[in-house]
Formats: sequence, C-alpha cells, structure tokens
Amino acid sequence: HPIRSELLIEAERQHCAPNYQPIPVVIERALDCHVWDVDGKRYLDMMGAYSAVSHGHLHPRIVAAAQRQLGRVAVTSRAYHGDTLGPFLQKLCALAGFEQALPMNTGAEAVETAIKAARRWGHQVRGLPDGTAEILVARQNFHGRTTTVISASSEPSYRAGFGPFTPGFRWFDFGDMVSVRAATTASTCAVLVEPVQGEAGIVLPPPGFFAALRAWCDANRILLIADEVQSGLGRTGRRFAFEHEGIRPDALILGKALGGGLLPVSAFLADRRLMQVFSPGSHGSTFGGNALAAAVAHEALRVMEDEQLVARSAALGTHLLARLRGVQTQWPALVRGVRGRGLWVGVELDPAHASAREVVERMAQAGVLSKETHETVIRFAPPLTITRALIDEGVDRFAEVLAALPG
Ligand code: PMP
Repeated sequence: HPIRSELLIEAERQHCAPNYQPIPVVIERALDCHVWDVDGKRYLDMMGAYSAVSHGHLHPRIVAAAQRQLGRVAVTSRAYHGDTLGPFLQKLCALAGFEQALPMNTGAEAVETAIKAARRWGHQVRGLPDGTAEILVARQNFHGRTTTVISASSEPSYRAGFGPFTPGFRWFDFGDMVSVRAATTASTCAVLVEPVQGEAGIVLPPPGFFAALRAWCDANRILLIADEVQSGLGRTGRRFAFEHEGIRPDALILGKALGGGLLPVSAFLADRRLMQVFSPGSHGSTFGGNALAAAVAHEALRVMEDEQLVARSAALGTHLLARLRGVQTQWPALVRGVRGRGLWVGVELDPAHASAREVVERMAQAGVLSKETHETVIRFAPPLTITRALIDEGVDRFAEVLAALPG
C-alpha cells in the first residue's frame, strides 16, 4: 500500500518551494517528546523543532491556555489594548530583568527590531550622524533569513544571489577580543551576538570572552545585544545563556520556545532608556503581541517555572553530554568532538568517515529525530521535558547507527 507518506512527500515536492530538504518522515501527530508518522511509527524527538519545542509537544497546560483564549479573542492588532498582552509582558520582563518588551512573531523579526533599535539609539542618543551607525556581528552567526539579517551573515550559502545587502555591519571572530577591537569604529553603536552560536554547530565562547566584550562595550558606549532566540528560556541549563558568562546584555532577543511549541512568538527586551527610541508608528507587526500569542507565551513561561525546566535542562544536559562523550570514546575515528550546554549538544563527526546527513537519516529510520547542521555536526536539542531513560534510548540508537555505518 503505497503509500500515503509517498503521496504526501510528492505533494510537498510538487507544490512547496524547494527551500528545505526534509528528512523523508511524514509526521502526523506529536505528544511531549514523541512524534508519530502517518504509518503510526513512533519517533523520539531529539531536535525539538530547532529548539522551538522546549516544553514538549502540545503541553496540556499550554494547549488548555490556547483553547481558553480561543473562546475569547485571538487577534485584534495593537490598534487597541487587550487583557492578555500587559500581564504577559509584565511576567516576561520580570523573568528576564528588563523593563520593557516589544512583541513580534518570528526570531528574524525580533532581530530586525533589535537592529532598528540599535541604529536609532546610535543616531538619536549617541549622536552619530544619521545613517552612519554600524553594528558588529560575529562570523558564523545565525540571526535569521530576512534580507537585512542575512546582510549580517558571513555564510555564503545564506547570502549567494540575494544582494544588494544592507550596509552597516562589520564582522569579528566569535570569541576573539582582538578582532572585536579591530572591527570597532567610531560609528559602532552595537554588538549583536549569540551567547552560544547555535546554527554554527553549538559553538561555545572561550571563558572570559563575554566579560571582556561587556567591558569593551561599556568603555566605548556600545550596546551589547544578546540573540537568545535559540539559547534562551532554559535551553542551556540557565534561564538565559548570558548568565553562564556573568554578564547582563543591554538588550535581549527571544523567540522559538517563547511560543510554548504552539505559535510563533518573539520579543525584543530592553530598558526604557533604549526602548524609548521607538515612537508610535516607528515599528510594528499586525500579529505581534496578539491576544492568543500572549496567552500562550504567558502560560509557556509559567510552565517553565512550575516544571523547573531550567534545572531539568542543566541536570539532564550533563547526562546527555556525558553519554555522548562515551560514544566518542567508543568511536574516536567517527566522532571528533562533543560540546554543549544544557540540553543542547553538538556532535562533530569526521567528514572523512561519516556524513552528518546520512547519520541523521539513519537515526530517523531507527526512530530518533535529530538534525545535522553544516556537513559535520549533529545537533541534539530535545524538549526540556525529556527523561534520563529517553536520553539513554536516543544515545543508544545513535551509537548503533555509528556502529552500522559502512566502511
Ligand atoms: N536567531 C537565532 C540565534 C536563531 O537560532 C534563529 C533560528 N534558528 C533565528 C534568530 C531566527 O528565528 P526564526 O527562524 O524564527 O526567524
């Protein structure tokens, strides 16, 4: 019986633009740490929709909050006030330690918001001549896919053919203060940086880098803006990844897990003195901060606290890292490195011996969802609700896949 999955894959192939190359698994439903395909086969989800599903799929409390809100009101736009946005942002700001937040939908939109805020701050507060403000970004960054955001990318595959690009970005090497100093000019108004570079393959900063970067920014009146779209809300075993560095950024970008695994919800957070660069009409989004999104995200924050997902991520992340290091010891020729923080671990394969894509495909056949990033790294970012036993199961399948690789 061919096969409903083949027909569905073919329908996507025919009618969906070819900007992704999905693994050939057709997901029909999901619950917590598992998904099921159209043939009823169950998979352990160890990629969590690129860290968007930190609360587990369809968390009952978050679903209930959505259903309650769907009996009231979903969308009005911000032309009017609502009874869910204020309480949500109050909670979010208290939790993150900032005075205000600007709600958007996707991560890339919140990054765009940060870029606009930094530029206006540079021109209006720092007094740079209008149109000259520059932002420093790290090589190998990932901040999203809009035209301005890829203008800040150093990655040819994200950029090729999409120019002309937005000017005003300069690159430094992640973790290297010498190159930060060299890239800084009198027009530098901000540094936009991921505390851990996610899409680059879970690249951790060297100890002390962020403290030195914070001091450099302070000494030169430069804003430090942390893109925690992927690293934030418990993924690294702290609420925010910048906490590992003992610093506080001037602004914070959140997305992905903020939507509780249900909806696109993002936010740009800062204190009033920075946020006041936005006057009415200067920025916005029809759906940003809509009533349904606010209700869902608010419940997602409560669940994160009530279920102590941050502490889970720290404890279980230690276990995941140790287990994967065990696999490295077992297969030293295949696995070149294992690195991560919390439930966010990258396994660097030796491309001479194993292709990350092939490993991910074989893992899916074995019933575990993971994701390759670039040619060599397998990324694990399971829901923070995962258990020790499920981690063991996932890592066992991974070891079996490596053992069965040809050659
Ligand atoms: N910033 C970071 C650090 C990300 O990892 C991502 C997504 N991978 C984004 C921004 C963009 O988010 P979105 O896909 O929701 O636009």
